[in-house]
Amino acid sequence: MIMQRFESKLATPVVQTLVVIGIGLIGSSILHAARKRRLAARIVASDQSEAVCRRALEIGFADDVVTDAMIAVRDADLVILCIPVGEYARVGAAIMPHLKPGAILSDVGSVKGCVFTAIDPILREDVHLIPAHPVAGTEYSGPDAGFASLFVNRWCIITPPLSASAAAATLVRTFWEEMGANVEAMSADHHDLVLAITSHVPHLIAYNIVGTAADLEEVTQSEVIKFSAGGFRDFTRIAASDPTMWRDVFLNNKSAVLEMLGRFSEDLTALQRMIRRGDGDGLFNLFTRTRAIRRSIIDLGQETAAPDFGRQRAPEKS
Ligand code: NAP
Repeated sequence: MIMQRFESKLATPVVQTLVVIGIGLIGSSILHAARKRRLAARIVASDQSEAVCRRALEIGFADDVVTDAMIAVRDADLVILCIPVGEYARVGAAIMPHLKPGAILSDVGSVKGCVFTAIDPILREDVHLIPAHPVAGTEYSGPDAGFASLFVNRWCIITPPLSASAAAATLVRTFWEEMGANVEAMSADHHDLVLAITSHVPHLIAYNIVGTAADLEEVTQSEVIKFSAGGFRDFTRIAASDPTMWRDVFLNNKSAVLEMLGRFSEDLTALQRMIRRGDGDGLFNLFTRTRAIRRSIIDLGQETAAPDFGRQRAPEKS
């Protein structure tokens, strides 16, 4: 069962000043949720794009919106980077001198090892780095894509370093729990390995299969689109995800993705062999095991059991 409702019982805000840098899908969802659940006494949003900042002002989920991240972070107790991971070193270096002592620097990046590679060399001793990754999203981008319930009943993985302040890690944990997420802590390396197989390789497969279909010569583009409900359509949703974000994910989780891709290729070769040899039992056994995995995901409330992934049917033509 998917639980969308979440009631916060918070009496006081989790932080005084929250600063969100990057007002895209994830940043705007945090802003909506933080505003709705009163998680911060003051909310500041920042984005490099003036158009995005103007739109954020219209939406009204922040007290202040500024393009300059260095100005945005001045009074911050908690700063959350919601930008592509390839931007961390540049933005981290720019804001570091302007953070107040005791500030917490966090993020939402889909890769975690690279956060330390980018930030550790410039990290001040009096600033706490507590990385996080909400395992939730859609294929949409930008300030209008976000919504307050995006993180409800979804996992958020935090990867505090061993030397992290326990108080800072607890605050980040509480912040995500108050947005409705289930929080689990693990090492950055383990996170990157787990997410390589559960998220990064599936995205690569989707990008690849949609690319292959687009390049086919024997089957026309219009046939691919017309008969897409046969399974292809579900890959196209994933393959519509933001190109900048996913380029940075693959460039920054190289070794784990390559390791999982190696295993995937071996298993794909075994499947090819089963088809070639007519090994029906082998295919049947694998498909039975994979069906059970989907059932467990539904039982854990991470997917709907509704037919066709819960899609609304198009109205009947008269
Ligand atoms: P998004 O919708 O594309 O938004 C990113 C925003 O950050 C854009 O407005 C972008 O502006 C801005 N930005 C880029 N570089 C910046 C910089 N140097 N300074 C200030 N603003 C900057 O992206 P998103 O999907 O929210 O992803 C943001 C982060 O969340 C990524 O690290 C991603 O790995 C992580 N994440 C994403 C998902 C998901 O499903 N999308 C899920 C979990 C975690 P421009 O448009 O001008 O570049």
